[in-house]
Amino acid sequence: AGHYHVTGADADSVAAALEAGKLEPEIPPYTDFAAYRADGGYAILAECLDGTRSADDVIQVIEESGLRGMGGAGFPTGRKWRIVRGYPGPRLMALNADEGEPGTFKDRVLAEHDPFAIVESLCIAGFAAGASKGWVYVRGEYPRVTQRVTDAVDKARDAGLLGADILGSGFGFDIEVRRGAGAYICGEETALLNSIEGLRGEPRQKPPFPTTHGLFGEPTAVNNPETLFNVIDLLVDGVDVFRSCGTSNSPGTKLFSVSGAVDSPGVYEVPFGQSLAQLLEQAGVCIDPTTVLLGGAAGRFVNPAQTDFLLTLEDAQAQGFTLGSGAVVVYGPDEDMVDVCTRLAAFFADESCGKCVPCRIGTVRQHEIMVQLGKGADPEPAMALIGDIADAMADSSICGLGHTAANAVQSAITLGLIGGPNE
Ligand code: SF4
Repeated sequence: AGHYHVTGADADSVAAALEAGKLEPEIPPYTDFAAYRADGGYAILAECLDGTRSADDVIQVIEESGLRGMGGAGFPTGRKWRIVRGYPGPRLMALNADEGEPGTFKDRVLAEHDPFAIVESLCIAGFAAGASKGWVYVRGEYPRVTQRVTDAVDKARDAGLLGADILGSGFGFDIEVRRGAGAYICGEETALLNSIEGLRGEPRQKPPFPTTHGLFGEPTAVNNPETLFNVIDLLVDGVDVFRSCGTSNSPGTKLFSVSGAVDSPGVYEVPFGQSLAQLLEQAGVCIDPTTVLLGGAAGRFVNPAQTDFLLTLEDAQAQGFTLGSGAVVVYGPDEDMVDVCTRLAAFFADESCGKCVPCRIGTVRQHEIMVQLGKGADPEPAMALIGDIADAMADSSICGLGHTAANAVQSAITLGLIGGPNE
């Protein structure tokens, strides 16, 4: 909702006002195609195609930069492209713009403001990985992203910057935009591939990984928009500039979507290595937060006393957290944490695809227990049962949803936010 400060209590009335046309949604500006090109857009792709930069050069720069995937997993981007390139064709690309993690909206902002950079960077990635086609998979609830990226693809194709023989170089690459239908699980990379193929959006067993058996069985590099947004600047500015901020294992910057009990919710770009407390200060935490949910629904609650840890992939992991997709949701002291955890549990029970038993049953049971807790059930046996369910889901689910569905509730128990004698 742009800069409107919407809390859970008034979300319905704001949505109704928007629908009734009584409130103007804030439409972010975006560059047009001519301005994008006048500002240096497509210069890097042209350099790739006129022989100034080979695919190996591009991959080497990305590898030396240490750029890692920003969708949550943190896999080295250059290595992913090199693996795909190492197989004989056909090879394919997929851009995961599904962004279904609650509290995450960075990719929407990037794609709405700069759709041409999405298209150019995906084409450069395709050139590096030796791919002939890429799919952009857009979250169903992001109609403006769908429209703008589709428009950017059409304009690039009309200008000869996509298609069979781009700029007469002999390199062919095209992009298709696909819209999701609202399933959170389709942000899981193999479920996303199934969805693009027209199959039911369920994760595939891994291995094999998409880099060897991806879309239509072909080697496929799946990337996150934020990751690809680094590529053009990295190739323009060079590795040293990119590595001049961040840490050796987490170089560069990271986008965080900050929302909840803060003065200025929004997307913040910070160097890796800044502390969570600094980020919260920038966003203007307006009341002493009870706690922070870091990493979205699949993440964990952070105690306010712990917010001095550094926002890097390695520090978060060492502290038992995950940065995930960069969601930071702040809860004020008046928030009913049993209610919050019940809603998180309901979310996973809803979004479990049902393919495997531990997650299909476990997420429903977890929700039921949270509902009972909210009605005043004895917390001790409830907490023990939640622990058993969490272990079963973490040990034997086949995808990340099942592995992480109990994280938030478990961390709330550990921090004493729920399950106390007064619940
Ligand atoms: Fe589906 Fe859950 Fe199994 Fe993942 S863990 S495949 S979401 S049932």
